[in-house]
Amino acid sequence: NLGVGKGDRIIIYMPMIPEAIIAMLASARIGAIHGVVFAGFSREALAGRIDDATPKLLLTCDAGSRMGKVVKLKTIVDDAIESASFEPNNVVVFNRNIDPEMPKQERDLDWEELLETKGENYVEPEVMDSTDPSYILYTSGTTGKPKGVLRDTGGYMVALHATMKQIYDCEPDRDVYFSTSDIGWVVGHSYIVYAPLLQGIPTVLYEGTPVYPNPDAWWRVIEKYGITVVFSAPTAFRILKKFPSKWITERDLSSIRYFFLAGEPTDVPTYEWGKKLLGKPIIDHYWQTESGSPMLTNTPGIEFLPTKPGSPTKAALGWDLFVIDEEGNELPPNEKGILVGRYPLPPGNLLTIYGDDERYKQTYWEVYPGRVYNTGDYAIRDEDGYFFVLGRADEVIKIAGHRLGTREIEEAVSSHEGVVETTCVGVDDPIKGTCVIAFVVLKQGYESSEGMKKDIIQIVRDQVGPIAAPKAVEVVKMLPKTRSGKIMRRILKGVYENKSLGDLSTIEDGASIEEVSSAINMMKGELGK
Ligand code: AMP
Repeated sequence: NLGVGKGDRIIIYMPMIPEAIIAMLASARIGAIHGVVFAGFSREALAGRIDDATPKLLLTCDAGSRMGKVVKLKTIVDDAIESASFEPNNVVVFNRNIDPEMPKQERDLDWEELLETKGENYVEPEVMDSTDPSYILYTSGTTGKPKGVLRDTGGYMVALHATMKQIYDCEPDRDVYFSTSDIGWVVGHSYIVYAPLLQGIPTVLYEGTPVYPNPDAWWRVIEKYGITVVFSAPTAFRILKKFPSKWITERDLSSIRYFFLAGEPTDVPTYEWGKKLLGKPIIDHYWQTESGSPMLTNTPGIEFLPTKPGSPTKAALGWDLFVIDEEGNELPPNEKGILVGRYPLPPGNLLTIYGDDERYKQTYWEVYPGRVYNTGDYAIRDEDGYFFVLGRADEVIKIAGHRLGTREIEEAVSSHEGVVETTCVGVDDPIKGTCVIAFVVLKQGYESSEGMKKDIIQIVRDQVGPIAAPKAVEVVKMLPKTRSGKIMRRILKGVYENKSLGDLSTIEDGASIEEVSSAINMMKGELGK
């Protein structure tokens, strides 16, 4: 009744409350395309997505709540629309009355008031082709501009319905599913919202972190609702590992049948810790925003394959995955290369990048010879067909399982008036898996200071979001470059992680030993770690 119909876009910028799921399902019902934006993203990130999706409607709340703090979502929405070129017709606000100072604009409408004045009890569902788009979900790539992964309708439903049984081994009247992700990520779309509901399985929605108010937050939820299948992330396990195990062992967790982990590599110590403490199968599985459902996995619903620590097991049904070198040659077992897939891809994979078919072709199909689907990840396949995923082969990083492009962070850092050049690299972090270090070269007349470093970090928080904030800013005289002018990112990473020169020369993109040592000299004395 607000003039939104099939094919129109609706942006949803909401915390983890039932109304957010209602909004997604309502959008799907009328054939609109939803674009859920993670409510931890900043004003600038939201503005970019508004301009890309040009939504008629934006749905939000007055505020979210995180670690006892109020996150003023409506204020961020207003600021984002202010800095965007496109303005949605209306912003519908579900007011939780958390932020008494919530700003108001003429385009705003009140959610509950609308339901009373314009709402209907029954709305006929829109008839959709299987290839009609159901949603856009933005994810980071190698340029500064996030990609809008466009999902179909029919294929996605088929994939989710099938995987709920084949992979997660779920049945109605028996299972209760808890994905600890957020609706702002693909895991949330697939396994908080659509897949459990398609199978008639209760889904549990949790707003907050695993450690607030106490480190037993999730375990209480699991006990209370008799949850049988949990889908979480390795980072969460690493955070919980820091606390005394009593927070977990004092709860009755006997209902749990499986723990699934995804989003980043599961390190073996964390895997062993979880397995020992919980006494239940811990299943590492691998997939991407693009795929919408698992690509490498065990399949307890069909047959529980023997596990190998550090491996997300084998290719999921429908996937023909293999490992190639840069020239496109398939590699023999146990050799590291790029993980790629043969077409046709299984149902539910992305249709294209919203509004940019050319970028879709270039990013996924034209990077390596032979028209193979490029996952962007390094992997090894062993002689038994088990895969080991070794991290990204491009400039995408995963911080606490959240996908970010170093380009996006670099663009924010460069917008500081004193910065002439920057490279941001992901370095190993014991909890988050990876964290960002920003290497910067300053303009003449600017001196490195703690205040300036703080300002740079704040710019990244504001422009990209708090999750992208660099752990440190390192001022260097020059950024090390190869003769062809390519910044030696691996050198920066290696120097920061204190790798030796020998190690570095084997990992840098074709750099010679002289280049490596001259790179280190360029920065020497300036890396005040
Ligand atoms: P996203 O699109 O945010 O789900 O990020 C997808 C990327 O996360 C993949 O391309 C991998 O780099 C990484 N990833 C996801 N799951 C795993 C896993 N089980 N093991 C290793 N890396 C993973």
